[in-house]
Amino acid sequence: MLVIISESNNPPSRRFRNSQFFYAISYVAVTMAVLIFLNVYCSILSRKLIYRSKEHSLVEKCQLAADELGSLEKLDASSISLLLEKMESLTVTRLIVTDPSATALYDSVPGENRLILLPEVLQALDGRNIFNGDYKKGVVICRAATPITQGGRIIGSVYMTEYDPVRGALVKELQLHVLQITAGLALFLTLFALVYSIRFGLRMDRIMNSMQIIQSGDYSHKVVMGGNDELALLGREFNDLTDKLQLSEAKRTQFVADASHEIKTPLASIRLLADSILQNDMDRDTMREFVSDIGAEAERLNRMTEKLLTLTRLDSEPGSEVEILHIAPTVRRVSRILAPTARAAHVRVQLELEENCPILILEDNLYQIVFNLMENGIKYNTPGGKLKVTLKRQGEDALLTVQDTGPGIPAEALPHIFERFYRADKSRSRATGGSGLGLSIVHDLVESNGGQIRVETKPGTGSLFSVSFPLFDTEAAL
Ligand code: ADP
Repeated sequence: MLVIISESNNPPSRRFRNSQFFYAISYVAVTMAVLIFLNVYCSILSRKLIYRSKEHSLVEKCQLAADELGSLEKLDASSISLLLEKMESLTVTRLIVTDPSATALYDSVPGENRLILLPEVLQALDGRNIFNGDYKKGVVICRAATPITQGGRIIGSVYMTEYDPVRGALVKELQLHVLQITAGLALFLTLFALVYSIRFGLRMDRIMNSMQIIQSGDYSHKVVMGGNDELALLGREFNDLTDKLQLSEAKRTQFVADASHEIKTPLASIRLLADSILQNDMDRDTMREFVSDIGAEAERLNRMTEKLLTLTRLDSEPGSEVEILHIAPTVRRVSRILAPTARAAHVRVQLELEENCPILILEDNLYQIVFNLMENGIKYNTPGGKLKVTLKRQGEDALLTVQDTGPGIPAEALPHIFERFYRADKSRSRATGGSGLGLSIVHDLVESNGGQIRVETKPGTGSLFSVSFPLFDTEAAL
């Protein structure tokens, strides 16, 4: 059996926790490196400061001794001892005077070894003034050496060592304090990183779990995330998203239910009519009438399907393409197409159109808007009534109005007329082949093309639909 192990086999929260742990470890490692560097730097700096404070006095002592020794006639052990005894200020731990071959002529700490091969002595015999500091076991040790000259010639060297336990203790104490502070900080940072990482991980887990619950279809689930940080914000945004998802899911379900219901009615009529033709022995004229009814129902279904397709297209690609279009010719074309319908309904159509009204829209979409509004104005009119369509420029906009002399729209129906499948006057709408989709298509098309739609109505006196679109500025476009 072949088992394919892919990355997606890891649950997301686990993967996340690993990366969170990795971030925490990296953070601690970098912080530790910085702390160790600071520790070492502080310790070196403190020692250097102590050495520098000692350098001046020890080098001065060396030079003083070298000057005095250089003035002696002869540089031998007895005259050196005599001179140094007089110089009481030269209190150092060790003092050595050598001849040019580094052989000790005087050593304050007597020993067997007469050849002094200390680096400071050798460098001093090369003609340089030398100072070196060192720190060992809580004691600061400073060494200095200076050449002894006579008439520009090096006749020997003075070497001094000074042990300073007081300053050594100071360095030790300083180093200890810095180390303690560093250790404390490191401990605190590690604990902080751990606690923060675990807390962050748990909060993130909560969001991931919620996502999985919602993924499984429970859109009512909410992320409960306290606090005021980015994760709390993410939780709130996530909840807003699921609210919208829930709303759109509810709308979708409602839409499917409404569409099925609307399609069921003409289908049931077709079936009923077909059954009647099959079961009854009817005359030719009645059968013709029944078949023509079936045709009308099929036509109604066809119109509804087309409208549903338009709405679906609008939902998926609102206002994606446009062209520069003058409104008046389209209104005249719709008026010509609807002329027979208007004649049949005994409605007089009156057009008052200003010519120069270019806007950005697709011809098919503008046609649909004007057609639906004018068709409604004829459908929901009274015999002998009037449909007045006007078009004019108003400021930056083109304003199209469609006014009828029908019964108007009841106040309680007004907020709903742009909803899908809504019919204010159900019997009249059905009788005229309405589906309750026309105005919702108009609304969506107007909005997706940057326009606005308004309706004013008074029961008994008719309705006035006003649509405005931003005019296309041909001069600015040139
Ligand atoms: P329908 O296909 O049923 O006409 P619409 O979406 O075009 O659907 O209109 C929705 C409802 O609004 C209609 O059922 C009708 O009751 C009401 N309505 C639309 N236009 C008018 C109008 N000019 N006068 C009165 N009622 C109207």
